[in-house]
Amino acid sequence: MSDYLPASRVTRIKSSASVAAAARVRELKAEGIPIIDLTVGEPDFDTPDHIKEAAVAAIRDGETKYTSVTGTPELQTAILRKIESHTGHHYERNQLTIGGGAKQVLYVALMASLNEGDEVIVPAPYWVSYPDMVLANDGTPVIVPCGEDTGFKLTPDALEKAITPNTKWLILNAPSNPTGAVYTREELQALGAVLEEHPNVFILTDEIYDEIHFGDGRVTSLVTAAPALKDRILLVNGVSKAYAMTGWRLGYGVGPAPLIAAMNKLQSQTSSCPSSISQAAAVAALNGDQSFVRDSVEVYRKRRDAAVEGLNAINGLTVAPAEGAFYAYVNCSGVIGKTAPDGKVIENDQDFTLYLLDAARVAVIQGSAYGLGPYFRISFATSLETINAGVDSISDAVNALN
Ligand code: PMP
Repeated sequence: MSDYLPASRVTRIKSSASVAAAARVRELKAEGIPIIDLTVGEPDFDTPDHIKEAAVAAIRDGETKYTSVTGTPELQTAILRKIESHTGHHYERNQLTIGGGAKQVLYVALMASLNEGDEVIVPAPYWVSYPDMVLANDGTPVIVPCGEDTGFKLTPDALEKAITPNTKWLILNAPSNPTGAVYTREELQALGAVLEEHPNVFILTDEIYDEIHFGDGRVTSLVTAAPALKDRILLVNGVSKAYAMTGWRLGYGVGPAPLIAAMNKLQSQTSSCPSSISQAAAVAALNGDQSFVRDSVEVYRKRRDAAVEGLNAINGLTVAPAEGAFYAYVNCSGVIGKTAPDGKVIENDQDFTLYLLDAARVAVIQGSAYGLGPYFRISFATSLETINAGVDSISDAVNALN
């Protein structure tokens, strides 16, 4: 019997840090250790009833077969309508792709476009999956640090410096996981002006958190701010975060027809189509009553405010309020170099998060997993009680440092 030898694309990448953190929390809980879990990357709400009912009806009505690779006509219409109302841009059906979550759509986009040596600009802090997705598809991630001084946002200058003749993609994610940063229309226009000078660069905008926005009005999409780039933008979104539907696995993308055709060809040979039942549920989500979205944003806002106030009251930690998504990216430079009661020195954010797990029984994710330390990410997709308990425990643990 021969041993299994993984493909080089597998050995090149790591498992997702958030998935690993969630697994660790589950393990500790299973051992009976109570953990205050602030790692969660998904809404804690249940999927709204009218969406579940649409799925049940789809099962009863026999909507249980393969659909077209690009989904049912009802889903296509619902997605294209949402995109048009959000961006002001009309897309045709041949500019639409769907998949098993935004994550899978992003992966297929890279699979459909990258050749060895192609570079992908990834502003840091980044969602943990981008660099590994690029590596798995033979590309080279080009990480561009974007510090707190620019609100963790990419500047036109930093973008210009990162572009080379090999640049294939720029990935922009707003509202951002892990910082909650949102680009203004003016900021996007300024990035757009740089991109207009570099026709080799395509732009992937990950807008999965677009509905979770604490500012006025809608989050501006790059295609709205810089319409001249429309033929080079792949806009990716899905129903996971806005409608508490992470387990339903339904995401989508709109963009230039040739890229979309390549992606759909790959989808036809990999998944055939996402679950027909999830498609019916997504139609209900996109076309139905949107009060769940508005109400949940208000709940997240209260939790964000509580988390930010509590964390800023802790000596050594600082955090600015996120403008969207459900995360706070906390600066912990003030605790680096301090000594824990057991004599261990906190050298970096990884040490600090391990200390918090040990001493405070609070699980958070170290900033180095997102490419920019020393920070840690907390999620406020959990109850106010859990957030307050977590902040109190973090405070006690920090006070115990010397
Ligand atoms: N992009 C970002 C920035 C995310 O945080 C996530 C979920 N963690 C995704 C994409 C993937 O979402 P989906 O459930 O639609 O695959």
